Amino acid sequence: MKAVIQDESPGYPADLLKETIDALPDHIAVLNSEGRIVAVNKRWSKFAQKENLGYEHYGVGQNYLEVCDKAQGFGSEIARLVGRKIRELIFTQRGTFRVEYDCHSPREERWFQLCGSVCHYNNALFIVLAHQNITPLMIAERRLRESEERYRALLELSPFGVIVHQEERIAYANGTAMRLARVEGEADFMNREIYDFLVPTDKEQVQDKVQRVLLGDRPGPSEAILLRADGSEVPIEFQAVLIQWRGRPAIQVILQDITERKRQQSDMLWHKAKLEETIEERTAKLRETVEELEHFSYALIHDLRAPLRAITSYSDFIALESSTDPARAHEYLLKIQQSALRMDHLITDALNYSKILRHEFPTQAVPLGTLIQGLLESYPEFQRHGENIKVAKDFPWVLGNESALTECFSNLLRNAIKFVPPEREPKVVVRWENRNDMIRVWVEDNGIGIPRESRESIFSMFQRLNKPEDYPGTGIGLAIVKKAVERIGGRVGVESEVGKGSRFWVEFPACRPPGRKRPNSACVHGKRCIA
Ligand code: ADP
Repeated sequence: MKAVIQDESPGYPADLLKETIDALPDHIAVLNSEGRIVAVNKRWSKFAQKENLGYEHYGVGQNYLEVCDKAQGFGSEIARLVGRKIRELIFTQRGTFRVEYDCHSPREERWFQLCGSVCHYNNALFIVLAHQNITPLMIAERRLRESEERYRALLELSPFGVIVHQEERIAYANGTAMRLARVEGEADFMNREIYDFLVPTDKEQVQDKVQRVLLGDRPGPSEAILLRADGSEVPIEFQAVLIQWRGRPAIQVILQDITERKRQQSDMLWHKAKLEETIEERTAKLRETVEELEHFSYALIHDLRAPLRAITSYSDFIALESSTDPARAHEYLLKIQQSALRMDHLITDALNYSKILRHEFPTQAVPLGTLIQGLLESYPEFQRHGENIKVAKDFPWVLGNESALTECFSNLLRNAIKFVPPEREPKVVVRWENRNDMIRVWVEDNGIGIPRESRESIFSMFQRLNKPEDYPGTGIGLAIVKKAVERIGGRVGVESEVGKGSRFWVEFPACRPPGRKRPNSACVHGKRCIA
């Protein structure tokens, strides 16, 4: 024990006081008013011994001020500062000072704190110096600081917005959160409630969530609409957790902009709805086609049975009477031939009709005049009538499909020259007019005409108004015309005066020729027209 205690304090044994001072973890030295060390405690002497400071009697008797003044190299600045502080205390005879300094050895890092205070004893002035090893404190502090720096760097670089909400106020917000909320700087954010940055309808649910988190609940992510500083809105997903912020509980909210996700979701919903619509449309179309095909096959079978029955009956007659009446047998053979021919026509027309039902008819710009002229030139039945079939000049282009249009006009023209009384020379006129960007084509004849009550039904399958011996046919032609026209987005109809003639009309969307554009205007048919 190197502590030097001159007198016993009243009521306190001097030995106990010495032991107490020796038991302190601080290195304590007492200087007199000249700066000379007059006493040191056990810790001081142990330190001097351990560090091999070369003090005799652990420094007792040495002038501490001189040691400070003469210090060289590393630590000399701190030593001189301590010297100045001690001199101040001696001069003012009152007060305290505290100096923190590092004193690292090659083996370890060390920090010390030196406290000096004035002490008066027996009318003499003493300075008590207490060195304290604050290394654990400094290391803990440094670790804490580094960990906080890492945490802050992480938050600042985070692609997620992070807001700390404490006692109903925003205590911290990272850059991403500030950019997301479009605030100018921290000042616009700090000390405001997070609820200020929500659309009114979302405030309650976020408040509820914050309360639940404060009560220790850990709710999953939720969505809300963020109200930005500029008044615009942005959808966000957020999650809240309870943390300690500067020693008090706080809510850390992590948020992200989900505009893109929302857009993708609504795109997906749109595509799904569109797909369902398309499926519904196609299913309806398919159902319609199946129904039509069912009706068609039933009617076809029914119509095929008539010539078949005729063939069977005439064959029976021939089998029975060919030897007795060869002339009659020959007549029956001719009838069998006619029935077979009719069956052939029925089958050919039926195949054409089913082709119209099954095939796709993509539309494009078609030069109608060229198409009709080509028809007239390639069918001998039309060429026979030469000048009696007149086609107007300068037919426009229409939005259609070549094979559908060929089916349509070949049937209309064939009927126009067929349904004419035998004594009358057929006269056909094909002309057109523009009706609100729809091209209406008229096929007019001077034939037998069609009664008013049949003007709709003739477009159905196997509807015939005349006896086959007067006007042969299958009753499928106009059904083909109607179906073909409808498949390419057109319409068909007829006007007529019985005994004088008929005027069939078909309408298609007008279309400009390919490569020719209307100045400053799109095609009236928008997407459907590819011209
Ligand atoms: P088809 O010509 O094979 O008889 P369509 O389906 O072409 O069958 O015509 C159905 C019916 O409509 C015809 O049988 C006929 O009675 C009537 N028809 C069609 N075109 C004309 C026309 N230009 N003039 C008078 N009647 C017509």
